Amino acid sequence: MKKVAIVGCGAYMDSGYGCPGEWRCLKAAAMGEGKFEEPYQVVAFVKCECPGRSVVPNLSMSFKLSETKPDEIRLSSCLVNSKPGCPYAKPEELAAIMEKKTGIKVVLGTHEYHL
Ligand code: SF4
Repeated sequence: MKKVAIVGCGAYMDSGYGCPGEWRCLKAAAMGEGKFEEPYQVVAFVKCECPGRSVVPNLSMSFKLSETKPDEIRLSSCLVNSKPGCPYAKPEELAAIMEKKTGIKVVLGTHEYHL
């Protein structure tokens, strides 16, 4: 089974829009639903914090401390699709930075349950 680290948008999660990261991404990964074409094992869930500077170091630290390197990093559907979007970086820009810094493929989106 592939391993995945998920990155959620902390601003969205903290805003009380019904998804503090409690199940949507996790269920989609476990069941192989939404943007996951097969079941994945979630080995990290990292919360981005505005303005986003800490997310790559925190991801890297999670890989180091857990001694686990995921096959993919996924940007959560709320991070990718929320409106208005992130004022600091486009999801594609964030993904490119993460790929460059970690050497791990970054995929946009996790679940397709209602946002
Ligand atoms: S920097 Fe962007 S993606 Fe990160 S928590 Fe803030 S709004 Fe969300």
